[in-house]
Amino acid sequence: MAEQRADLDEILKDAHLPSLMAALVHMTGDPGFIRPEWAPTYNPMEREDIGLSSETQAEMRSEAKAAIQAFLDGRPLQLREPDGATLRRMIDFVAGAPIPEGYADFLTDELALAGKSTKDPQFEQPRLKEAARKLKVLVIGAGMSGILTGIRLSQAGVPFEIVDKNPDVGGTWFENTYPGCRVDNSNHMYSYSFEPNHFWPQHFSTQPVLLSYFRGIAEKYGLRQHIRFETFVEQLTWDEAKAVWRVEMRGKDGQREVVEANAVVTAVGQLNRPRFPDIEGMGSFEGPAFHSAEWRHDVDLKGKRVAVIGTGASAYQFVPEIAPEVASLKVFQRTPPWGLPAPHYHENVPEGMKWLLEHVPYYDKWYRFWLFWMVTDGFLPMVKADPTWNGGPAAVGPENAMLREMCVQSIMAQVADRPDLLPKVVPDYPIGGKRAVLDNGVWLAALKRPNVDLITDRIVRITPKGVVTADGAEHEVDVIIYGTGFQASNFLSFLKVKGRGGRDLHESWGGDARAYLGITNPGFPNLFMIYGPNTNIVVNGSIVFFSECAVRYIVGCLKLLAETGARALEPKREVHDAFNARVDEANKGWAWGSPHVSSWYKNAFGRVSQNWPFGLIDYWRATLAPNPDDYVLEKAPEAVA
Ligand code: NAP
Repeated sequence: MAEQRADLDEILKDAHLPSLMAALVHMTGDPGFIRPEWAPTYNPMEREDIGLSSETQAEMRSEAKAAIQAFLDGRPLQLREPDGATLRRMIDFVAGAPIPEGYADFLTDELALAGKSTKDPQFEQPRLKEAARKLKVLVIGAGMSGILTGIRLSQAGVPFEIVDKNPDVGGTWFENTYPGCRVDNSNHMYSYSFEPNHFWPQHFSTQPVLLSYFRGIAEKYGLRQHIRFETFVEQLTWDEAKAVWRVEMRGKDGQREVVEANAVVTAVGQLNRPRFPDIEGMGSFEGPAFHSAEWRHDVDLKGKRVAVIGTGASAYQFVPEIAPEVASLKVFQRTPPWGLPAPHYHENVPEGMKWLLEHVPYYDKWYRFWLFWMVTDGFLPMVKADPTWNGGPAAVGPENAMLREMCVQSIMAQVADRPDLLPKVVPDYPIGGKRAVLDNGVWLAALKRPNVDLITDRIVRITPKGVVTADGAEHEVDVIIYGTGFQASNFLSFLKVKGRGGRDLHESWGGDARAYLGITNPGFPNLFMIYGPNTNIVVNGSIVFFSECAVRYIVGCLKLLAETGARALEPKREVHDAFNARVDEANKGWAWGSPHVSSWYKNAFGRVSQNWPFGLIDYWRATLAPNPDDYVLEKAPEAVA
């Protein structure tokens, strides 16, 4: 027992104390663990800083130790579900400030203390179960969203099939295997809310770890038997008479097959079709040239002269990895990325933290909640555009300017010994204009290496030997790596979709994809998109959250069909248009909507086609369940007669 006490001292050094205090309220039934003098004051730039003196923290650890020891010695868990007022105090305590009134039900649902959430399918009634069994849903994609859809459809009792072009599950985590690839959202949040992993090895795990998580989930829920791998869905055609989608697909042997489905869910991500730049002479290069998302592991970079084009989130991860092994590295930058200080970006999750996640009931939920609040709507004010702002185009408002100042200070400290780099690495656009990356120092350290050059002259041509820039220099290299991103705004470009009356989805979009809530489209009944237009996030949170909300809504649409006996639904045109008008207007109010920013968040028309311009709470609310008034429901002919 003495040994166990000694362990607890070590373990508690790794605790996130505010989350632990909330967990101890459950363990002991004593709300005294969330006393005002222990309330944290967070520092947004320093995650370890909870604004409490070391004496206070020692006191908290000491009381925590006694409570946990008693629990380990057999004292039963006292409180599973606190009453509303106590829960509210716990939420405010862990958030570090009173959260706005309207957030309580949303955050309580995210916490899912009783293990139940609005995201669980509700098909209990026998009549609904029976109707669900008669449906067939086809899901395109077996990545994070497709796996999730499969899980929820199984829980709802809806028959389904998943089709994926790849030979395995995992989507983006299967395809992107470049060195250094890792998630840039904390893993304890970038995971399904109902499938926590207490043993993430790092706060931001690497691609193989993520892939293994999604493989494990697919196994656990028995999804593989529902998945057709190496099969490419080419066309969807709506059969008006039968009210089904005819789905044409091609298998790996070229074999074509047509199947019918009452509904189709596209779960294909936004970032899965590599984009190569349009640079003269690209095909003439004599050496290997490849995109970061199609990494050539057969090309040994050791001792080679390498060019990297692009400095977005992908290059930001692989440049520091390859820089030490190549002979020389020329990084061609058009626009520098913003890095948000995150010293723990590559750090392991401490063993004590893993222990607490596994052994202290509810600690995992409160820790996830804290991450969720800190990086979600809590961060949004920093990137909000102030219409009265007159401080220049490098910021969009006073809070944005303040954040900019803090980040510039961090950059300056890192390149103090290389003043020549400073003007090249400080962005001139507002933070939040593009996807910011997490800065633990490795990016600028790589750029400072003697074998690395950061080239900001415009690329004019690629030759058989290398890259020519506007200053006339020809940079001779052996290998070119394109870190130039994805065709993000070409939603569903791989897929021909013929909807009601033979209407073509891409013609109706005219290159400017839109959807109602990013999910449904007028004229395309029972076709549901996950991670569709205007459902991406820039700074606030994890895309898993968006997928969970979208899937809840899609399952809700299937339930609406089952409840009403309708066989198809599609959004009313006016509802779709009014929603999109609101989205476009709201997107102007954020850094990413600034006219001074160009990014993959905007499409060829300059419209922000990717991003959700409201809070997470708004997507959560909007997707709780479909409002029948928003939809045209098509009854079966016999039901009409
Ligand atoms: P990206 O952010 O679109 O970056 C593409 C880079 O290529 C940009 O620096 C861009 O410059 C540059 N570029 C494009 N065309 C060029 C040209 N003709 N000449 C010179 N430079 C050119 O692509 P990405 O890095 O693959 O990231 C895409 C998104 O994927 C990210 O925003 C993020 O959402 C996601 N991602 C996430 C992770 C993660 O979670 N860990 C990792 C990687 C990617 P400009 O900025 O001037 O356009």
